[in-house]
Amino acid sequence: MLFSRLFRFPSHDMAIDLGTVNTVVYVRGKGIVLNEPSVVAIETVNGIQRVKAVGRDAKLMMGKTPDSIRTIRPLRDGVIADIEVAEQMIKHFIQKANGGPSRLPRFPEIVLCVPSGSTSVERRAIRDAATNAGASRVWLIEEPMAAAIGAGLPVIDPVGAMVVDIGGGTTEVAVLSLRGLAYSSSVRVGGDKMDDAIAASVRRRHNLVIGETTAERIKHELGSALPPTEEGISMHVRGRHLAEGMPKEVIISQAEVADAIHEAVSQIIGTVRTALESTAPELAADIIDQGIVLTGGGALLSRLDEALSAATGLSVTVAEYPLNCVALGSGRTLEDPDYKGVLTEV
Ligand code: ADP
Ligand code: MG
Repeated sequence: MLFSRLFRFPSHDMAIDLGTVNTVVYVRGKGIVLNEPSVVAIETVNGIQRVKAVGRDAKLMMGKTPDSIRTIRPLRDGVIADIEVAEQMIKHFIQKANGGPSRLPRFPEIVLCVPSGSTSVERRAIRDAATNAGASRVWLIEEPMAAAIGAGLPVIDPVGAMVVDIGGGTTEVAVLSLRGLAYSSSVRVGGDKMDDAIAASVRRRHNLVIGETTAERIKHELGSALPPTEEGISMHVRGRHLAEGMPKEVIISQAEVADAIHEAVSQIIGTVRTALESTAPELAADIIDQGIVLTGGGALLSRLDEALSAATGLSVTVAEYPLNCVALGSGRTLEDPDYKGVLTEV
C-alpha cells in the first residue's frame, strides 16, 4: 500500500516547452520547475567539441566568447537548426528538472511542445533525444493548443477561441474548437526579428554596432507596437562605433525603436487579420465574444494589444503569464485526463 503510493506519487512526468528563446519545464504535481534560455555554448578543444554550458550560463556567454567557444540557439527560427545540439540541450534540461541524472523513480512520460514549423524528421529526432534522456513515452502537443490551454481558453467546449503566441522565432495564430485546431498558421516573425531590426537601425542611425543581447534589452525597455504620442523615453546604449572602431555610447529614443520594429509588428498584425478572414462564420461569432488572447514573450511588447485591437476591432487581452502559457498548458495535460485528447504519441 505504502509502496504503491510511493511509486505513484513522485513520478517525474514532465511537459517541456521547447521554445526558440526559452525552454520551460513543468513537472507533474509540482508545476514549473525550470525556465532557461534555449542556448548552448560549445567549446572546441583540439578539434573535439563538447558542451561548455547550457541555458542561463550559456546565454551569459553570448557575444562574449573567445574563438574556441560558440553559443548556439539550436531552435532559432522555429525549426531545429542543429539537432545534435538540441538533443544535448533537452537532455540537460530533463536531468536538471529531475534534480540530477540518477534520481528518477521510474521512467517518466514526457509531453513535448515543439515549434509547429518543425518537420517530422525533426520531431522524431526530438523524441529520440527525450527517449535517450530516459523518457518511457513521448507525446507531442501543438504549440497553439498548449498556449490556449495555458491561457485558460475554453478549448474543450464547442466555442471558438483565438490565440496568438508570439515567440522569439515565430508567431503562431490559431482558432481552436472541440479539442482541435480549426485554423492555424505560423510565420517566422517574432521577437528575434525585432531585435535584428533594432540592431540594424542603431547601426544605420548612429553608426554603432551592438550585439543581440543589447538589442533585446532596448526592445524590452523602449519597444512599443505604436509610436509614442509625445516625446517618449530614451536610453543610453553602448557598442562599438563603426568608423572609429572604439567603444561608444549613444542615446536611443523610443520613437526610433518603434519605427525599427514597425515592420515586424505589421507582419504579426497581418497574420492575425488573415486568420480572421479565413475563419468559419460560426467560429468568428465566438471570437467576437471571446476576443483574442496573446501569449508568448512577444505579448509583453508594450501596446501590442492596443495595436491589434485597433487593426481588428476585437478585444485583445494579454494572458496572465504569457511566457509560461505553453508550459502550463502542456502540463495541464499531465494533470487532467480531460485534456489527454489533445496529445499525439510519437
Ligand atoms: P519562444 O517560445 O520562442 O522561446 P518566448 O515566448 O519565450 O519565445 O518569448 C521570447 C521573446 O519574448 C523574446 O524575443 C523576448 O525578447 C520577448 N520578450 C520578453 N519580454 C518582453 C517585453 N517586455 N517586451 C517585448 N518583448 C519581450
Ligand atoms: Mg513559445
